[in-house]
Amino acid sequence: MQVGIVGLGSIGGSLGYDLRERQCRVIGVSRKQATCNRAVELGIADKASCNFDGLKSAELVILCTPIGKLEAIARQVIPHLNPDAVLTDVGSVKGPIVDAIEPLWKNFVGGHPMAGTHQSGVEAAQQSLFVDRPYVITPTAKTQPGAIAKLDQLITLIQARRYECGPAIHDQAVARISHGPVIISAALVSTAIAQHNPEEAAVVKLAKQLASSGFRDTSRVGGGNPELGLMMAQYNKDAMVQCLQQYRRELDGAIAAIESDNWDALNQWLIKTQTARPDFVD
Ligand code: NAP
Repeated sequence: MQVGIVGLGSIGGSLGYDLRERQCRVIGVSRKQATCNRAVELGIADKASCNFDGLKSAELVILCTPIGKLEAIARQVIPHLNPDAVLTDVGSVKGPIVDAIEPLWKNFVGGHPMAGTHQSGVEAAQQSLFVDRPYVITPTAKTQPGAIAKLDQLITLIQARRYECGPAIHDQAVARISHGPVIISAALVSTAIAQHNPEEAAVVKLAKQLASSGFRDTSRVGGGNPELGLMMAQYNKDAMVQCLQQYRRELDGAIAAIESDNWDALNQWLIKTQTARPDFVD
């Protein structure tokens, strides 16, 4: 298969590695010439350049640029596509992306490979990043079966686990387990450094010295690249707000139980969460 990858960063680069490994021919496009050169050097793409001309021969073109650029890049890419080419994207939010790109190209289907690193750029690309990781495809009633079949081929090649759902359900689910937790974890860090009076300076100082694995685990996603959290909030606004409102209700319930010494209620709540967690992660 001939595959075009636009945006040779951590996700685009990782896809390139695995597709070339599986005998696909990869045509890379990126913004910077240095990135294109590096991608060829690393073995991510067979050839790469800053213009879209080479995409004409691609059967599948994967848009791997930051979310905010996906629609604009799709508009630039489309005039260069073979009429039968399938277009997809890897954006972590699907509703607004599918709404924007679907009307532009008949053979478009949205997708989200759910693997990644917290580093960005071509050097952050990894081999076998998607093996046994979820890859969600988000077709709509308008999606062509041929486009789905082509994306399925990609998912099989990179050995990911395929899931299919509508764009809105995808966005609500990822708000609960990925986007919402970024804000919740950021609030935790913000709570740890909160200082309402000069006396609390000593508390904050000691807390920093004592913080260990529990704080490392719970604060990790909130202490990451601010651009990512901002982008998730901007592009998945409704689902994010819904998730955070539910989180506020959960916290209010826990606070009320603690304030009223209702240890039974608190215990039941903690048993519920202890029982539920393994359904999400091992
Ligand atoms: P990234 O490492 O920053 O890579 C994006 C690449 O796009 C950059 O390296 C940049 O390459 C290129 N680019 C930027 N503007 C461009 C343009 N106008 N034309 C062509 N190339 C352009 O970001 P990423 O983490 O791979 O994320 C890319 C997409 O994957 C996003 O839509 C994100 O939602 C999605 N995603 C990310 C993860 C994750 O964990 N990181 C997981 C799943 C999905 P240059 O060096 O040439 O500027």
